Amino acid sequence: MKIFLNAGHGGNDPGAVGKSGLKEKNVAVQVVKILKERLILNGYPVQTYQEKYHYTEVSKEANKSGAALFISVHCNSAANPQAHGTEVLYYPTSNKGKELAAILQNELTKATGLYNRGIKPRGDLHVLKSTNAPAILAELAFISNPGEEKLLKENPEMFANAIWEAIKIYKTKGLL
Ligand SMILES: [Zn+2]
Repeated sequence: MKIFLNAGHGGNDPGAVGKSGLKEKNVAVQVVKILKERLILNGYPVQTYQEKYHYTEVSKEANKSGAALFISVHCNSAANPQAHGTEVLYYPTSNKGKELAAILQNELTKATGLYNRGIKPRGDLHVLKSTNAPAILAELAFISNPGEEKLLKENPEMFANAIWEAIKIYKTKGLL
C-alpha cells in the first residue's frame, strides 16, 4: 500500500507563479514534504517524486514504484486574480480515484474554509491517464489570487493535514 506523492511541476517548469513571486513547484514540495512526514510517522510506505525534465517522467516513476495510490499536488491559476477555491481532479473511469477525490475535496474545504469548486473528471491529463494506480490531482488553491497565495505560502501544513486526513478516511473505507 505504498503511496506515491508527486509535487507538481519542477526542474525548469515552475508551474504558476503568484504576484509575490511564489512558485507553484515550491508550494507543492512544501506540502508533499509535510505529508510525507505524516505518512512515514504512521507507517505508510511513501515515495515522492517531482519531475526533473518532463512531466511524462512522473507516471513512469509511479508505475515502477508499484504504488497503490497516487496523489499529485498542484496550485490553480487563472488570469482573473479573483478566481478562488479548491478542487480535486480525477480520471473519469476510475471509481477509486473519484472516491478519493470526493473525500479529499471535503477535507480540503473543511480544513481551509476555501470555496468548494467540486471534483472534476479529467480524461486529458497525462498524469491521471498514464498512472496505473488510482490517481488524483489536487488543485489546492489559486496561487494567482493574492489571498490564497498568502495562505499557500504561510500554511502549507494546513493543506498537507487535509490530504493526510483524506488518506486515513480512504483507508478506513477499505479502499487502500
Ligand atoms: Zn500545476
